[in-house]
Amino acid sequence: MKVVANAFDRLWADCQGDVMAAVASVGASGWWILGPQVSAFEKELGRHCRLPHAVGCANGMDAIEIALRAAGIAPGSKVLTTPLSAFATTLAILRAGAEPVFADVDEHGLLDPQAAEAALAAYPEIRALLPVHLFGHLADTPRFAEMARKAGAVLIEDAAQAIGATRNGVSTGEFGLATCLSFYPTKNLGAMGDGGALVTGDEGIRRRAMTLRNYGQSEKYIHTELGMNSRLDELQAAVLKDAFLPKLTRWTDERRTIARTYLDKISSAHVTCVPGPDPVGSVWHLFPVLVAASRRTAFADYLQSKGVQANLHYPVVIPDQEAITRRGSPTVHGSLDRARKFATCEVSLPIHPYLTDGEVAYVVDVVNGWTG
Ligand SMILES: *Cc1c(COP(=O)(O)O)cnc(C)c1O
Repeated sequence: MKVVANAFDRLWADCQGDVMAAVASVGASGWWILGPQVSAFEKELGRHCRLPHAVGCANGMDAIEIALRAAGIAPGSKVLTTPLSAFATTLAILRAGAEPVFADVDEHGLLDPQAAEAALAAYPEIRALLPVHLFGHLADTPRFAEMARKAGAVLIEDAAQAIGATRNGVSTGEFGLATCLSFYPTKNLGAMGDGGALVTGDEGIRRRAMTLRNYGQSEKYIHTELGMNSRLDELQAAVLKDAFLPKLTRWTDERRTIARTYLDKISSAHVTCVPGPDPVGSVWHLFPVLVAASRRTAFADYLQSKGVQANLHYPVVIPDQEAITRRGSPTVHGSLDRARKFATCEVSLPIHPYLTDGEVAYVVDVVNGWTG
């Protein structure tokens, strides 16, 4: 049996009719960039996230840069973030001209509130907190919002992996000044290409983000900022709105059902699941497990030999990446022991919504057959 990490062929078989209808309607409209489809998708997305505003962007990384800049993060500011994420999180901070400060993660792989508190005390010039809802697990946003308020900083949520997640009743985007989403195809809500958005309850952030994504243009040919070209196009917006967003709740339910099965049935003494702080509210973008660092490669090879496609999230912590160290010593507060543990011990099992019950049972059997 082959169990892949993402089954785009099954997605296509399920959604082809809706996608083709969306494409046809954009084609016939004769309007292909920043038009009625983007506006309508932004409305639907805001409704889905229970926030008044959404602003479509070209991708998730740009959404983070735009959110930071819209929130007033200027060159020279410091931004507190996690060393364990997609590189794009930190790259967006640097693209905004700011300097990342890294603090360790907690046992769930999420930015640790205590480590963040210590970093804030050490670097009072931190102007923004940028936690990441890694794996689909929500970081502790009420605590980060409170910390940010006391420090005169803002909270921006990187929710590229966590659209629709909750944590003990708190929702993605509820506490952040702005919350950033990616529609990279593998994400829980993926486009057929690149796409991203920020969602916000703040009208000023919305207005500035709309300007920044379109050359800093506040009205036609009037440029009030040095903006970007980071527009979501009509085709992606229409496909997201008409074909994929209507399925997101069902897809998330599927992911949660699979996660529940893995959590119930994986019983190998050599494999530890990472259920996160709220396994029911998580949207399970990934299903991380931890194995002994010395056996991680062997475990990944074993899965591959059984036809189970596994990935690593993430094998190198961001401050150790060559692109970062080449700039000089990164700003790291405290030890990164827990982040490094994920970097050396983590393996992600397949958890996409088109997995069959038989495939899920097979993955459980294969994992439980691992003897360490
Ligand atoms: C995917 C991802 C991003 C970047 O999104 P893109 O659309 O690929 O630019 C940022 N942060 C996290 C946590 C991600 O998973």
